[in-house]
Amino acid sequence: MTLTYENSLASMKEAEFVAHNKNCIIIGKSGSGKSTLLRFFQELNYNCLSCSDLLRKAMHSNKEYSNEIALCAEQVLAIPDDIVFDVINKELKMIIRSPFVIESFPVNLNQYYYLIEKLRQGNCLNKTYFLYLDVPEETLIYRIIHRRTCSLCFSSYHLIDHPPQIPGYCDSCHQPLFQREQDQEVKIRNRFNMFKQYTMPMLERVKSDCLPIIRLTGQQDVMDFRAQLTKLLIR
Ligand SMILES: [Zn+2]
Repeated sequence: MTLTYENSLASMKEAEFVAHNKNCIIIGKSGSGKSTLLRFFQELNYNCLSCSDLLRKAMHSNKEYSNEIALCAEQVLAIPDDIVFDVINKELKMIIRSPFVIESFPVNLNQYYYLIEKLRQGNCLNKTYFLYLDVPEETLIYRIIHRRTCSLCFSSYHLIDHPPQIPGYCDSCHQPLFQREQDQEVKIRNRFNMFKQYTMPMLERVKSDCLPIIRLTGQQDVMDFRAQLTKLLIR
């Protein structure tokens, strides 16, 4: 079954059926709102796993991998699968108890096959769906290039939609704001290219394997996605 949910009532019912109390794999480009939705699932007591958080932690604390992960992040290269598997494997075993949510994994075909095998072993493949946050690239670019981050508490601002009260300084701790390297336009466009090259073929594979995909589309901001998800999950 392949399912597209694009705000029409008929497919909304199907999407509700697919999403209610099931396991969710969140897929989307940088800035599409994956981690915000993960926090929403967390509030609903799902077991949550953020692969991007795990890799960030490994970059700072895992001596074996930190250099390579940092290099990949800096040059916008795909992190080698064996590193990703090693970093995620233990956590994956712990959360594969329904219902769970995984964000930013898998991002390519090889990782997809790996995950499908784990889901089969855990007897939960038939209770799992993919949630694809499909936001136009130009919307994401607008969202990301105006983002500024606090150098101390890492609060996030948007220069146009959510500016700080005093330009250049954090509202809560008054430290200077800066633009993260990964928020620069050239880096974002490179990440979008990676998504097209590696993740889109994976999504095609999900479809041809007849696993459910709920696609949330549009220009919405993350809170609108959250509202749409609320309709799907909370009856
Ligand atoms: Zn701050």
